[in-house]
Amino acid sequence: MEVLYNSTRSNAAPIKASEAILRGLSQDGGLFVPDHIPALDKSLEELAGMDYRQTAYEVMKLFLTDFTQEELKECIDRAYDGKFDTPAIAPVREAGDAYYLELFHGPTIAFKDMALSILPHLMITAARKNQVKNEIVILTATSGDTGKAALAGFAGVEGTRIIVFYPKNGVSPIQEKQMVTQKGDNTLVVGIHGNFDDAQTGVKQIFSDRELAREMEGKGFQFSSANSINIGRLVPQVCYYVYAYAQLLAQGKLQAGEPLNAVVPTGNFGNILAAYYAKQMGLPIGKLICASNENKVLFDFFQTGVYDRNREFVLTSSPSMDILISSNLERLIYGIAGEDAQENGRLMAELSQNGRYGITGKMRERLAGFYAGYADQEETAEEIRRVYHACGYVLDPHTAVASAVCGKYRRETGDQAKTLIVSTASPFKFTKSVMDAIGGSCDRMGDFELADQLSGLSGVSVPAAVEEIRNAPIVHKKECGAGQMKDVVKEFLGI
Ligand SMILES: *Cc1c(COP(=O)(O)O)cnc(C)c1O
Repeated sequence: MEVLYNSTRSNAAPIKASEAILRGLSQDGGLFVPDHIPALDKSLEELAGMDYRQTAYEVMKLFLTDFTQEELKECIDRAYDGKFDTPAIAPVREAGDAYYLELFHGPTIAFKDMALSILPHLMITAARKNQVKNEIVILTATSGDTGKAALAGFAGVEGTRIIVFYPKNGVSPIQEKQMVTQKGDNTLVVGIHGNFDDAQTGVKQIFSDRELAREMEGKGFQFSSANSINIGRLVPQVCYYVYAYAQLLAQGKLQAGEPLNAVVPTGNFGNILAAYYAKQMGLPIGKLICASNENKVLFDFFQTGVYDRNREFVLTSSPSMDILISSNLERLIYGIAGEDAQENGRLMAELSQNGRYGITGKMRERLAGFYAGYADQEETAEEIRRVYHACGYVLDPHTAVASAVCGKYRRETGDQAKTLIVSTASPFKFTKSVMDAIGGSCDRMGDFELADQLSGLSGVSVPAAVEEIRNAPIVHKKECGAGQMKDVVKEFLGI
């Protein structure tokens, strides 16, 4: 059955998957959502016999129904290849009493690679299918990891350009170095004087600027997005939940149908939303546990039914989760409002005007499958230490937030279900915080020395992604104020 995509903010006619991927965001400011969630059409036992690419095909074919089998398989083959440092692509690692789903084996050693290694191929295919002649300009706001993963995916891809905005003082040194050393004539990286929310809001404003869109069209350009507001990011993320469950089944760690809880370190709510979709497809996921750092706007939301971004923005040791406006939550809100675009639009207008909104009791009831928790920086460091001493396994700070919340959840509820902790980054991306936590840090050491030190302590060699940037020249030095983003875009495009 065909899946079409609706905007969360209007009742405009639904569009095909390829069009939704090309557009990124709807003209009315809404996000595209599938008109229904398709059910898995392979049994768990069948899935247990598949490799990552086969699994990805079985999931994605159900959502991207206007792509041919050949098109989709080609995109998948190009994405999930030797760029990943393990043939398993997304291996599950048992440590202590949990399973860690390692999503950091791609070219930039964070989970954004899972979707961003395929998005450029989906987009180029979608452009071809829809006879798009314009050059596609990818506009991205990043809290650190999306930027590099999108740059790696789109650099040198014909018919595309990519512009990345990141908070100048809000990313880790390794994250920044990864971005500013990016090669490729079609790339631009800009540090903005502001935080991630400023960058994300600026990008959204540029997207909904109709006058600019007309000017662009005249010059043969059109925008799209590589942020997780693009449905082409979300769909590939559903695949690894199915794959993880099937792997545990294949290894005899689970019985078919046994519920598996999932703990997801959350920022923009994309990753956990993908888990929610996987559950709606029929995957036996138990509780969906949303883990936040000190920017615990989601924890408070699940606790009280009020989303309130009016609070201090905290820079933490898990910068990719330093977010107060979780864009993808809108897709969930639309769903629990009974797919009521008007009601959702009203709440989102409140959010942009007052920075807060509250949901009804009925909507809250529909959130019963979620649990939310948070861990502060001390608890996060303590968790890195605990797991390292107990099992010799080193977590990055984002994964450690999830792992700490997993412990709190178990203590609070007594739930004995097996648990998948989503591991979103390699510890080598956040060496300072990790080495501080396990006692190997030293003030005089730079990030690369710390990486060598961490390698010694963990017995894991320094990933190629870190080696590559050790001596790479800096090619992007541009900075701007949050209000100047549009000018920077126009300058880069020569309009
Ligand atoms: C992006 C990111 C997250 C947050 O994921 P969302 O899909 O935005 O919730 C968590 N950890 C890491 C390392 C990330 O890069």
